[in-house]
Amino acid sequence: MKKIIIIKYGELTTKHDNINFFIKTLKDNIEKSLNGIDNKITYDVGRMFIETNDYDLVVSKLVNTFGIHEINIGYELDTDDFEVLSNELLSLVKEKEFKTFKVQTKRSNKKYFLNSMEISRKLGGVILKNIPNINVDVNNPDLLINVEIRINKVYFYFDKIKGIGGYPVGVAGKGMLMLSGGIDSPVAGYLAMKRGVRIECIYFDSPPHTSENALNKVLDLANVLSNYSGYIKVHVIRFTELQEAIYKNCPKEYMITIMRRMMYRIAESLAHKTNSKVIINGESVGQVASQTLTSMAVINETIKMPVIRPVACFDKLEIIDIAKKIETYDISIRPYEDCCTIFVPEHPVINPVSKLAKEYEESFDYESLIKEAINNDKVIKLPISNKEFDSLL
Ligand code: ATP
Ligand code: MG
Repeated sequence: MKKIIIIKYGELTTKHDNINFFIKTLKDNIEKSLNGIDNKITYDVGRMFIETNDYDLVVSKLVNTFGIHEINIGYELDTDDFEVLSNELLSLVKEKEFKTFKVQTKRSNKKYFLNSMEISRKLGGVILKNIPNINVDVNNPDLLINVEIRINKVYFYFDKIKGIGGYPVGVAGKGMLMLSGGIDSPVAGYLAMKRGVRIECIYFDSPPHTSENALNKVLDLANVLSNYSGYIKVHVIRFTELQEAIYKNCPKEYMITIMRRMMYRIAESLAHKTNSKVIINGESVGQVASQTLTSMAVINETIKMPVIRPVACFDKLEIIDIAKKIETYDISIRPYEDCCTIFVPEHPVINPVSKLAKEYEESFDYESLIKEAINNDKVIKLPISNKEFDSLL
């Protein structure tokens, strides 16, 4: 009998057309996250199995992998002989402490000589006969014994660990995440990844108005996000010249509106270059002046690409709850200024007028500045130690 990790896919098994692609992507993602840890992965359409010499470490990675709905540390038997499997199960159960139990059987081998109910009943009988002072409790047992009968193989497991669900990162294609040092955008990235979107990040940096600490904060956030996707790429865009030009040429109350129109243009252009199909950001309706519906419309009109806003309708407290859960919150609240907060005017326009925004931004040659910013794109790959990173992109 061999100790083994059993992975259940859950939601992805309903996507029949894509099932092989889904499972292959999940396997690749798991392999990536287990880089450097002993593992051997096998799979079929119903389950994935991992052998390793460090079960706890592997499970700690699997609980952060999208596309996994349940993880069990169990045992594999290379025969489905009933006599053998009853004895092996008994030896496992004898080591457990419990007063009540239930056997629950799944049988994917429909030709097995007993059906699921009969297997559970017979195994229950064997256990009752050999272990004193215990009882069956089908509703609330101390010990739930799971038995899975497959062709020439049997699996046993007792404890279930909940996975984080979602789809394997990458099955939905790629999106460009506008990642600031704030609380919202890392959460937006996490939620997009949960639905299978591989993200690449873009950060607008304004040295010397923003410090290196602000950039490092963004990279630390991206590093945390890479725990959920195996690897991540961050494009650092120098925004200083554009921002200064806007400051010099446009009315202060339109500063943020025009700045964000420029960010969208650059993000879309980089998204095209990197084969990303959508832009993702942390905008939340009504949160600040630039996120009123009118503002969002005037900012959004500069591009054609769809924008996904996973936290658009969440309350700040709901976003904070997720940020804490995914461990980005403590990084996000570090007190470094980002480029937006430095140039925030006292009275930013709440209902910007599209015609005026256009007029103001046409007062300087923003297109050349955008081109230059994109040409100077600095790419940082995370986690840095990942040698195989390039081949994956
Ligand atoms: P967050 O919204 O992430 O908490 P924030 O509140 O500082 O950060 P906002 O001003 O609310 O950011 O901007 C809305 C969204 O625009 C952010 O969630 C992020 O997606 C994007 N954004 C803002 N500033 C930057 C930046 N410097 N680089 C990249 N994206 C940015
Ligand atoms: Mg915000």
